[in-house]
Amino acid sequence: MKYLFDPAIPSVAIVGQATRFPVNRIYCVGRNYAAHAREMGGSPERESPFFFSKPANAVTDNGVTLPFPSRTQDLHHEVELVVALSGEALAAKGQELSLEEATAAIYGYAVGIDFTRRDLQAEAKEKSRPWDTAKGFDNSAPVSGITPVAQAGEIAAANISLHVNGELRQQGMISDLIWSIPELIAELSTYYRLCPGDVIFTGTPAGVSAVVPGDIMEGRVDKLETLKIGFSPRV
Ligand code: MN
Repeated sequence: MKYLFDPAIPSVAIVGQATRFPVNRIYCVGRNYAAHAREMGGSPERESPFFFSKPANAVTDNGVTLPFPSRTQDLHHEVELVVALSGEALAAKGQELSLEEATAAIYGYAVGIDFTRRDLQAEAKEKSRPWDTAKGFDNSAPVSGITPVAQAGEIAAANISLHVNGELRQQGMISDLIWSIPELIAELSTYYRLCPGDVIFTGTPAGVSAVVPGDIMEGRVDKLETLKIGFSPRV
């Protein structure tokens, strides 16, 4: 195969390995924690979670300092458990997965931040326009190293949190997910044929708020590598 230029393959580190996880697509879940659905003005009793996506090259490595995103006066952090999918069984069948098949498709877990231009998202909602510029911008999906399931073990009882400059902003438990991890993979597989390399941001707990240039964010999920991301100071 000869390409006009070298194609860049977005990828994420794997904890304890030199091999990297190539990212195929990034799917995200909206309003998958009841407390966050309420803080965004929704009703978790009446509305189900839903999906949106980001480009694969929105991922960034752990530990980097990023330029502050353009075109926003209200950039929000959303700390999320990230699920990475792989496996021969998934490659053979990525659609209409059972809960057992969905569970078997999980390669590992990581901590991610779904950065959101909240002002642009609010405008998009008001005008019934797409969310792409609010959600799918450059560096909008930092991800920690992926911990394979065999090392991570049971994740359902884990705590999830985000600190900004050492101050606790977001806190929740993975067990509070409205759609469990197998349920959301199975649901997503009714819309798309899922492939090895697909990653899913599983939704954010309550406490989303604004970050500014110079801030340092630390996202944690028990048993997983801590995600640490900074923004360059204002110049
Ligand atoms: Mn989110």
